[in-house]
Amino acid sequence: MTTKEKFEKYIMGTYTRQDVCLDRGIKEKVYDEAGKQYIDFGSGIGTNSLGICDDRWVSYVCNQAHKIQHTSNLYYNAPQADVAENLCERTGYSKVFFGNSGAEANECAIKLARKYSFDKYGKGRHNIITLVNSFHGRTLTTLSATGQDVFHNYFFPFTEGFIYVEANNIDDLKAKLDDTVCAVMFEYIQGEGGVLPLEREFVDAIYSLCEEKDVLTIADEVQTGVGRTGKFLAGENFGKKANITTLAKGIAGGLPMGVCLADEKCCDVLSASTHGSTFGGNPVSSAGAMAVLEKVNNDFMEEVIRKGVYLKGKLLEIEEIERVDGMGLMLGAKLKTKKAGDVVKKAVENGVIVLTAKEKLRFLPPLTISFSEIDKGIEILKGLLTE
Ligand SMILES: *Cc1c(COP(=O)(O)O)cnc(C)c1O
Repeated sequence: MTTKEKFEKYIMGTYTRQDVCLDRGIKEKVYDEAGKQYIDFGSGIGTNSLGICDDRWVSYVCNQAHKIQHTSNLYYNAPQADVAENLCERTGYSKVFFGNSGAEANECAIKLARKYSFDKYGKGRHNIITLVNSFHGRTLTTLSATGQDVFHNYFFPFTEGFIYVEANNIDDLKAKLDDTVCAVMFEYIQGEGGVLPLEREFVDAIYSLCEEKDVLTIADEVQTGVGRTGKFLAGENFGKKANITTLAKGIAGGLPMGVCLADEKCCDVLSASTHGSTFGGNPVSSAGAMAVLEKVNNDFMEEVIRKGVYLKGKLLEIEEIERVDGMGLMLGAKLKTKKAGDVVKKAVENGVIVLTAKEKLRFLPPLTISFSEIDKGIEILKGLLTE
């Protein structure tokens, strides 16, 4: 049986996959089983932030695997401590909780916000405002948090306590932010929703209204975090720091890790046995994260900004592309006549891996991509888009 046949026989069909079996890679190029080369504009949905097999990342991960691969959280381990220290020092957050995915990081944020409010005000202040068209994950609770009706099907009953506000509608936010609300949760740039940045005035309104009412702000930076937008956290582009920020995708360079960061106001809410994760902060994932954190410094992020501007400019030169949204190396291109899904399929056939977000073509290349690889990928895409 081929790999594809095994998938069809043995793996639940929850994904529509491109017809390619990725086998290995080097930097920003990946290869399939047959040895065909692809330029990678997707980085495993923004996870392989240093590309494939970055030297330092490989050495940190392998060294850790040779020492001890897992300890559980009943004991201490140095790699987890070092990642936590690095994250808190560079972001100004006070404490972190480690899980294994974006959804888990958000579950932690939701539990934290509800307990913060429960401890201080008692029952009845459990609602969390999220935005229409948001995406927060696939667990039952994070599906509830996701403000898209298409996700609220089949699996009833969903977790209660989420109120949806239209993105960038300050009046809607004001009307719904009542005494039952303990937190407002949002993505600075809606990723899965179509690479849509929030308007600055709306972000300002979230912060000022929440501050007034002691409602916590939760920034879901699972996709936008760890240098993706050219800042370590996308909130820096808005001059803002939420009470809680969640990270996942790019943090460990392709290994599973979810992080919930909490500021001094709420960092001690989750006390002994109120939350946990067997694998959370696993030493091998932590070693991978350390390699990413060491690499993603200010000079590196300046480069991300330059490459983002360059990629955006190149995309805008293509006649078929109407508009490009996003920041840094998180970009979405709106097409004039073609369907993004068709373009992605053709791109794969022609050696370029690229993503979609709603009706847009989405670009989340490795943060380490070179200008010449951008040129090569764009040349191929340009051909497909001008056919
Ligand atoms: C991908 C994503 C998630 C879910 O992350 P998983 O690791 O798949 O659980 C949550 N929020 C945002 C903004 C995401 O982009």
